[in-house]
Amino acid sequence: MKNIIVTGGLGFIGSNLIYLLLLKKFKVINIDKVSYSSSFFNTSDFKGNKNYIFYKCDLNNSKKLNSIIIKHKPIAIFNLAAETHVDRSIDSPKEFINSNIMGVFNLLECFKEYSKKNNQVRLIHVSTDEVYGDILTGRSDETYQYKPSSPYAATKASSDHLVYSYVRTYNLPAIITNCSNNYGPKQHPEKLIPKLIYNILNNKPLPIYGNGKNSREWIHVMDHCDALYNVFKKGKIGEFYNIGSNKNLNNIEICKTLLRIAKKKIMIQKNTKIVFIKDRPGHDIRYALNSAKIKKNLKWKPKKSFKIGLEETLDWYLSNDKYYKSLSKKDIIKRLGTRK
Ligand code: NAD
Repeated sequence: MKNIIVTGGLGFIGSNLIYLLLLKKFKVINIDKVSYSSSFFNTSDFKGNKNYIFYKCDLNNSKKLNSIIIKHKPIAIFNLAAETHVDRSIDSPKEFINSNIMGVFNLLECFKEYSKKNNQVRLIHVSTDEVYGDILTGRSDETYQYKPSSPYAATKASSDHLVYSYVRTYNLPAIITNCSNNYGPKQHPEKLIPKLIYNILNNKPLPIYGNGKNSREWIHVMDHCDALYNVFKKGKIGEFYNIGSNKNLNNIEICKTLLRIAKKKIMIQKNTKIVFIKDRPGHDIRYALNSAKIKKNLKWKPKKSFKIGLEETLDWYLSNDKYYKSLSKKDIIKRLGTRK
């Protein structure tokens, strides 16, 4: 049995990735610091699985991180641990610097030593399309300039640069991926789609930032995880791979589509209406990736259509009401990121 470490595995994408890796018969070691966005509900399906191990550990704890890596001798590390909410990064950028830059630096130092004696190992560093900043027209490919607009995106961009510098300088066997907006089961309701679902279920207004025209490229989380697996299996060391669906929608379109689907399943109550609220400072208008490289070189493409994926996502939240209960209500409801 081969071992794989996933960092940030109590979060949204990490826990979905662990599910996929367990299906593929790997032993998975999950390292997570346990934060507000973590949920043990996300890993409750595989809690009793003998191929799943959890460690509470911050990426900044070198001693513990080193000992976990040495003990389990992974063939790959998928690095998903990060502070991820743009609004929080506006209020508290330092936490993002600690986790997303210092934490990654620390992981790289540990991984550097480990990879010297284990030359088949790979580090897959999971990043975002937000590093490219606003893409008003066209789609950004992997050669596009990094121009992040939020402290979150800037820390992710810094971590990508650090990883790449370790590839060039120390021959570190690492690969970087930049994915678009994910949706699906187990996502924290500070993010748009689970927030809208929570409010629909709780007879609350549906808050839309600014004029609602901000456009994002939406990909189902399992398509993202499948792409990450392909990158691990077939990706080239030192390369960047964009991962997207080519499907852009603005926030009003998301909201209306979700309401249409929800109406067929549940009674929509009277307070559940779209309301426009103050925009996020520095809010990017559009992200859009060109993912031709991964499609051509690794023969990967997304499988899930947005309409089906969104309906399945709503169904998941409807039948897993314990998920929202596993999180602090304050973290679901409170508006963040308006501070100047
Ligand atoms: P999430 O917030 O749901 O989960 C992140 C997890 O990382 C949490 O459980 C948190 O406790 C953990 N973590 C944070 N800092 C840590 C540290 N210093 N040490 C150990 N654990 C730490 O986030 P997500 O949406 O699952 O995103 C996962 C990764 O994918 C992030 O790196 C993010 O930048 C990237 N990404 C996300 C999206 C998206 O749409 N959600 C898109 C592209 C890329």
